[in-house]
Amino acid sequence: MRIAVASGKGGTGKTTVATSLALSLDTTRTMVLDCDVEAPNAHLFLNPTFERREEVGILIPQVDGGRCSLCGRCAEVCQFHAIAVIGQNILVFPELCHGCGSCTLNCPEQAISEQLDVLGIIEAGPTPTGVYFARGVMKVGEPMAVPIIRELKRWDIEGGATSLSRQQDETYDWETIILDAPPGTSCPVVESVHGADFVALVTEPTPFGLHDLRLMVEVVHELDIPVGVVINRDGIGDAEVDKFCAEADLPVLMRIPLDRSIGAGIAQGKPLVAIRPEYTDHFRDLYRRILDIVQEAEL
Ligand code: SF4
Ligand code: SF4
Repeated sequence: MRIAVASGKGGTGKTTVATSLALSLDTTRTMVLDCDVEAPNAHLFLNPTFERREEVGILIPQVDGGRCSLCGRCAEVCQFHAIAVIGQNILVFPELCHGCGSCTLNCPEQAISEQLDVLGIIEAGPTPTGVYFARGVMKVGEPMAVPIIRELKRWDIEGGATSLSRQQDETYDWETIILDAPPGTSCPVVESVHGADFVALVTEPTPFGLHDLRLMVEVVHELDIPVGVVINRDGIGDAEVDKFCAEADLPVLMRIPLDRSIGAGIAQGKPLVAIRPEYTDHFRDLYRRILDIVQEAEL
C-alpha cells in the first residue's frame, strides 16, 4: 500500500508522522520516499546509509546546424515554446524545455541529439531500523522538482532502489511505501501524491492550518484518492479544523497533542516513537484505520 503524507503548508509535522508511521510497521517491508526534494529532512530521523546515488535530469535538445534544414517542425510540435527558428538560427530555451523528446522524434533531418541537464540526484539505502529509505535532492537554483520526484517514485516501482541492499536473487515486495510529500499544493505535491492509495493530511488546529488543509483537500478530492486527517499540536488553537472535518466528512484519524517534550525531542532529530514509545500503538491504529478506509473505497 502506498500512503502519501502531505500538508498544505510546511512545519505541520508531516515528516514526524511519515517517519514514525514507518517505524511502527513491519520495518523490513516498509520503504520511505522523501519527495520533498527542495528541502528533504526525513533522513535526519531515519539515519540511512546511502548505497546508491544517481543523477536525475531532463534531456535537452541540441541542434546540429550542419544537418538542420530550418524546416521549423521542431518548433511546431513543442508545446512549451522551448525551441524556435529565428531567421537562419535554431534557438533552444532550456529553462522552458520539459525534455519530452517530441522535437527529436519529429525532426525530419535527424538534426537533434539530446543532452542530460542534471536537475538533482536520487539516493537510497537501508536504515538501522530496517526501513528502506530513498530521497531526491534538487540542485540549488533549479526550478523543476517534478522530474526528480517522478524518477524517485519510478525507482521503487522498477526495483532499482529496492534491490540495492538485498541479495540479487531476492525478490522484494514492499508491503507499505510511505511518501513524505513536499509542503503546499503545487505540482510537486500533486506528483508526490499521484498514484497513492491514501493521503494522510497533517494539519494543526489554527486558522493557517485550516486554510491550507482546505486547499489540500480540494487537490486530493480532484485526484480521487481516499483521505484522512492527522491533527498535530492538538490544543494549540481552536475547534475550526474539527468543525471543517465534520462538515466535509473527513475522518480525523489521529491526534498528537501540543507537548513541549515532543517538540524538544523532534528538534534533536528523534522520531516521535522514540520520544514516546506508546505512540507505536497509536501509529499502528492509524495504519489499521487507513487500511479499512482503502478497503472500503475499493468495494
Ligand atoms: S524536448 Fe519537448 S519541451 Fe524540449 S524543446 Fe523539444 S519538444 Fe520542446
Ligand atoms: S525539425 Fe530538425 S531540421 Fe527542422 S528546424 Fe528543427 S532541427 Fe532543423
